[in-house]
Amino acid sequence: MLRRVLLAASRSGGVRKAMETAPFSRGVVHRFVAGRTAEEALTVVRRLTGGGLLVTVDHLGEDTTDARRAETVVENYLELLDLISTAGLGARAEVSVKLSAVGQALDEELALENARRICAAAKAAGTAVTLDMEDHTTVASTLRILRELREDHPETGAVVQAYLRDAERHCAELAHEGSRVRLCKGAYAAPADVAFTSRHEIDKSYVRCLKVLMAGRGYPMVATHDPRLIEIAGALAVFHDRAPDSFEYQMLYGIRPAEQRRLAAMGSRVRVYVPYGGEWYGYAMRRMAERPANLALILRSVVSG
Ligand code: FAD
Repeated sequence: MLRRVLLAASRSGGVRKAMETAPFSRGVVHRFVAGRTAEEALTVVRRLTGGGLLVTVDHLGEDTTDARRAETVVENYLELLDLISTAGLGARAEVSVKLSAVGQALDEELALENARRICAAAKAAGTAVTLDMEDHTTVASTLRILRELREDHPETGAVVQAYLRDAERHCAELAHEGSRVRLCKGAYAAPADVAFTSRHEIDKSYVRCLKVLMAGRGYPMVATHDPRLIEIAGALAVFHDRAPDSFEYQMLYGIRPAEQRRLAAMGSRVRVYVPYGGEWYGYAMRRMAERPANLALILRSVVSG
């Protein structure tokens, strides 16, 4: 129930505006968000990569409703990729992009062109893009755009959300040679006709998807903080004789950092999803919906500034 309320609040424009213009929460910055600017994000990226982790950097923002705003988001990514390139971090730092931030709701063609520009800049910086997966109504469009992008940029990563009833089929379609696929549970509200709604069913779907990806020829990116699923992924990798560099674990910045370091110390590839920017509200609300204990942390830091 609380999860549904928090997810509904995450899409409320009025609340979003009020929260984002409040004094920037130091707790949010330090716990879940790497700062407001690309330079601040780069400081966090240097620290994480210096400690043996990989990163994927996300410029926060979603649900863009005008083309000028979409253009600003593209420019933010180009600036970020320039910094990554100059710092020589292309081999350890990729970027994650939300198509809704680059115009998907306005015009699919515009989002494709904008994403193409980011992919080209990523390639020039020696790295790649992963397309985040958003609300279930955008999945078909995102997969179409992914297919187009992969014509020129086959390294572009896909995301499958295990809570979708179609997830296993999507994994089977994406588990081919050279295909980078992030598997996550899914962070948005979705109706029961398209998505599993109980934790148990979602976890079972996650395991079915993991089996398909680990048995396939692609590069699985196991995005979860769930200890049981992390263990199952490791066991499946051993079962399928996968080398440690043929798949990776992914976790969010600020969540289970000790586990991130533990897996990396054991020789696994571990990538941390590092969000930055002023539009932190939707992202923070989804983290609260996953774990209401975070609600107190975020509200406290918003109030104290
Ligand atoms: P959960 O069942 O939520 O949690 C399992 C356990 O992990 C908990 O018991 C707890 O020990 C720990 N934990 C989980 N969350 C927290 C938290 N917030 N604070 C502290 N501990 C916690 N979703 C999308 O819909 N689209 C995407 O493109 C997408 N990309 C992602 C990329 C990465 C790298 C990651 C890690 C997640 C991404 N997600 C995305 C979010 C994902 O769908 C889940 O909502 C989120 O990861 C929580 O699910 P979980 O697998 O960690 O399991």
